[in-house]
Amino acid sequence: MRPFHRMGRAMPELPEVETVRRGLEPAMTGATITRAQVNRPDLRWPFPPRMAERLTGQTVLGLRRRSKYILADLSSGETLLIHLGMSGRMLISGDPLGQFVHDHPAPEKHDHVVLDMDNGARITFNDSRRFGAMDLMETAIAEAHPLLAKLGPEPLGNDFNETYLVTALKGRNTPIKSALLDQRIVAGLGNIYVCEALFRAHISPKRKAGHLSSTRAGGLVPIIRQVLADAIAAGGSSLRDFRQADGELGYFQHRFDVYDREGDPCRTPGCDGSISRIVQSGRSSFYCPRCQR
Ligand SMILES: [Zn+2]
Repeated sequence: MRPFHRMGRAMPELPEVETVRRGLEPAMTGATITRAQVNRPDLRWPFPPRMAERLTGQTVLGLRRRSKYILADLSSGETLLIHLGMSGRMLISGDPLGQFVHDHPAPEKHDHVVLDMDNGARITFNDSRRFGAMDLMETAIAEAHPLLAKLGPEPLGNDFNETYLVTALKGRNTPIKSALLDQRIVAGLGNIYVCEALFRAHISPKRKAGHLSSTRAGGLVPIIRQVLADAIAAGGSSLRDFRQADGELGYFQHRFDVYDREGDPCRTPGCDGSISRIVQSGRSSFYCPRCQR
């Protein structure tokens, strides 16, 4: 299979971001930023004022994830929000706690933010297409940040349950594919894992969300959780191979059942269909027309 980051359409989704967060944790949590280098004024949006100064000297108290955003809570009472966008990459170099063996790489053209930690780790944020973002806000009001305020529940959290999803989909005339991509309904799902979840649920991406029975709509909840958990587990395996890898976090090889498999045989036992690709709201949906109804 092609490496994940070579797939043109692929963007980091929740499992990739969670894998980056877990990879950054040993290098960042509890460590102090001794030097912050900010090489340009903006990515997708301008960086916050005096970002380098506001980061320097701060200890990272914890690394959280909300949807596809990584949140680093700092000793200053501020939180650093990190969004990988479409092409953002996090690299760890140095040898914090004897865990990593990667030499600091030669600076590259798209290394926009470089953080040196007091444990010897260097975190480099590289983003060739610059759809990523970083911002700083008060930790106490982080959830009110414009990028976070309107997000629905976390798909792996307790607020995302069968009762919630059945109610959220009721009366909706949009295809179920679009409804699950709506970040106000559930946060962090993107094109790939919605396709995979609908395949496992045997639901056509074209079916109107409001026309699903309560049983089928509610049944999506454990399936979505399992699809994400499987991908996070694959990401975890990639982290265990980290010593041999190039220090880049978050893009791992994962076996998809439908995504990017147009024309290939369906993997549902007993189904002799093949995977189709249709375009919905400008994005490819991959599904088996035979067993997804
Ligand atoms: Zn099938």
